[in-house]
Amino acid sequence: MKMYYNWEKMTNTEELRVVCNLIRNGEIIIFPTETVYGIGANALDANAVGKIFAAKGRPSDNPLIVHLADRNKIQEVAQDITEVEQELIDNFMPGPFTLILKRKPIIPDIVTAGLDTVAIRIPENIIAKGIITYSGVPIAAPSANISGKPSGTKIEDIRKELEGKVSAIVDGGETKIGIESTVVKVIDEVPVVLRPGKITPEQIDAVIGRVRIDKNILGTLNKDEVAESPGMKYKHYAPETSCKLVYCKDELDQIFYLKKFIKQYDGDVVVIGVEEHKEKLFLDDQRFISVGKKDNLEDYARNIFSALRKADQIKSSKIIIEGVKMEGLGYAIMNRLIRTCEHDFFEKQ
Ligand code: AMP
Ligand code: MG
Repeated sequence: MKMYYNWEKMTNTEELRVVCNLIRNGEIIIFPTETVYGIGANALDANAVGKIFAAKGRPSDNPLIVHLADRNKIQEVAQDITEVEQELIDNFMPGPFTLILKRKPIIPDIVTAGLDTVAIRIPENIIAKGIITYSGVPIAAPSANISGKPSGTKIEDIRKELEGKVSAIVDGGETKIGIESTVVKVIDEVPVVLRPGKITPEQIDAVIGRVRIDKNILGTLNKDEVAESPGMKYKHYAPETSCKLVYCKDELDQIFYLKKFIKQYDGDVVVIGVEEHKEKLFLDDQRFISVGKKDNLEDYARNIFSALRKADQIKSSKIIIEGVKMEGLGYAIMNRLIRTCEHDFFEKQ
């Protein structure tokens, strides 16, 4: 049976029927969203959702996000929605925003890792929307990658890693945003950001008048602490090659320290950084992967996961990654990169 579908230019409605039937029949598929690609299954079918965990090698205590076609569907899977939660829904959904709500029993335990809450998102991407709508069921979907690896944002990367483990792969081109959604839980009427993303704390504050950032976001929890967002405690976004993150506020410092670290590994490194720095570091295409122009955080976010995979293929002693300023979208990027580098982070403010 056909398993690769290219809908980059246009969704093929005949094929859409086939793909949605797979979902309804308890199979798993890969599909694009505006953040990253997802591996989806019918969220109401515990057996189907089990296939996602098996394909990814995902730990069973890491819950999945349930994707819905529109706001009217929220009440089918969640209950006791508070005023603050409703305001967040009205302002940020559909979009790259995930809200943790009190779950309804219809959602099986495997989806929520037994928690009494469920994470919901309404994607904006037209292909994702079509698949959820015509499947007629909520779709549980984590990112399309082997657990612990960088998320899948390009179909070539995903095919290499997951082909043969799913029933269909839908190609919608490169994902627009490139990093995963902002995850928020309302605690005592305060929106708490559990995972930063494209929707920034500043944007949430502007709407609700308050916001908090979970302390686990840029650090690690002590062993005896319970993670509010279970997924954030795992090693994540990491290629095979070990990585080092470097961020200096001053650009001359940044170049100086990058050179120093390159020398430390006798030049056997790959640098992931901004285009303008390639020549300054005297590196060629084998040793330097660009994530876009300086200060363009949107390009950085879109390119970072595929850059990590590309750097890994070069098989060097170390991947050195240029960090960004921790504000706005930069906050979300650094949250991922600190995990990529397992806290090997050189910083000079
Ligand atoms: P991924 O599916 O890889 O995009 O990751 C989903 C993220 O949402 C992980 O960090 C999960 O731990 C988090 N998450 C999902 N469901 C819940 C929930 N009910 N409560 C808190 N965090 C959740
Ligand atoms: Mg993931």
